[in-house]
Amino acid sequence: MVGEIVAVGTELLLGQILNTNARYLAQALARLGIDIYYQTVVGDNRERLAGVLSRALARSDVVITCGGLGPTADDLTREAVADALGLPLVEDEAARQVVEGYFRRRGLDLPPAGNRRQWLLPAGARALRNDHGSAPGFILEAGGKVVISLPGPPAELRPMFEEQVLPYLSALPGRDGTVIVSRVLHLCGIGEAAAEELVRDLAAGSNPTLAPYAHPGQVDLRLTAKARSEEEARRLLEPLEEEVRRRLGEHVFGADEETLEAVVGALLRARGLRLALAESCTGGLVAERITRVPGSSDYFVFGAVTYANEAKERVLGVPAETLRRWGAVSRQTALAMAEGARAVMGADVAVAVTGIAGPTGGTPEKPVGTVYFGLSAREGSWWRKGSFTGDRETIRRWSAQEALTLLRS
Ligand code: AMP
Ligand code: MG
Repeated sequence: MVGEIVAVGTELLLGQILNTNARYLAQALARLGIDIYYQTVVGDNRERLAGVLSRALARSDVVITCGGLGPTADDLTREAVADALGLPLVEDEAARQVVEGYFRRRGLDLPPAGNRRQWLLPAGARALRNDHGSAPGFILEAGGKVVISLPGPPAELRPMFEEQVLPYLSALPGRDGTVIVSRVLHLCGIGEAAAEELVRDLAAGSNPTLAPYAHPGQVDLRLTAKARSEEEARRLLEPLEEEVRRRLGEHVFGADEETLEAVVGALLRARGLRLALAESCTGGLVAERITRVPGSSDYFVFGAVTYANEAKERVLGVPAETLRRWGAVSRQTALAMAEGARAVMGADVAVAVTGIAGPTGGTPEKPVGTVYFGLSAREGSWWRKGSFTGDRETIRRWSAQEALTLLRS
């Protein structure tokens, strides 16, 4: 069985919002064992949307749309589905109850005219309840194909999918009964090419599969298995994961939803260590990530964004001589920043970041992307140098990731 996702909305086309619904739906369909060959994003345009839907219906069994079910004039998914299938729009009693129920719950009277469009569905559609918004979704079976239209806001789409669409799809005849399960291992302190080389022979098989993808400072390995049940798929993944972990050792810092900042935080907590940070080019990104983790107040005490040399001197006590002699971007300054940050608050461990994020400020000896990291602990001090490539944002993110990686080691 082949599924296809059509995300509707000009704001998606313009890159104003991220297409998180497509990701959510694609993962959900994969878990159901429904193959996906195409995903489309199309703007709020009736003809183009109807055209996309016609093509989707010609090549896929189940087409899921998201967005364009609202009350405003640019919400045209109902119309376009009807156009693509040559069906009229008709007033739907169940859809009307969804809309009216939404207004009633909010203590409002009759829905305005725009909202009344929301209970016009393509003939034959079955309305889907919406407990979190005004837009009814719908399921429409026509000509051996299925169209499922869901509202755009994720807070409405997800519960509607989980509670009403998932049971429907699970019961569809013609599914081959397989499920696809993925496990993502997160690596740090190793590049994509080096990681791939270590596991290349494991990636040869077709089930389970192994694929790397790289982010600044982090490589993810996705392990995917297809089987007749989730348990069976997990049994296929287990030995593969074990072997990958054996080969990559310490480079694997977590799996699936685990983040580096959470792993670092757990380490600090387990060892009873209090952390301080001194950041220059990352402007607080490391502190932001550390404090994203609930309970980080157990171990995080202090973070300073010391951008100017004067701040490095006055807040962290970096000697003026160090700055003059070696420059703000140097191993000596990184170490002095870390030592200073640790001393200011009597913390147990401190990490400092100082570098050139660009696009200007580079020199032949210290090009853009040169970043020094210092770590100060009771047992001693360590430093590292990074030479990153990319734009300012990439270099900053990469630097924050490296700072956390240094902390973990
Ligand atoms: P719509 O139903 O098209 O009017 O969409 C309403 C809102 O839902 C949009 O303004 C977005 O905030 C959100 N939204 C729509 N489509 C998506 C999508 N594919 N992924 C994530 N959010 C979306
Ligand atoms: Mg829209």
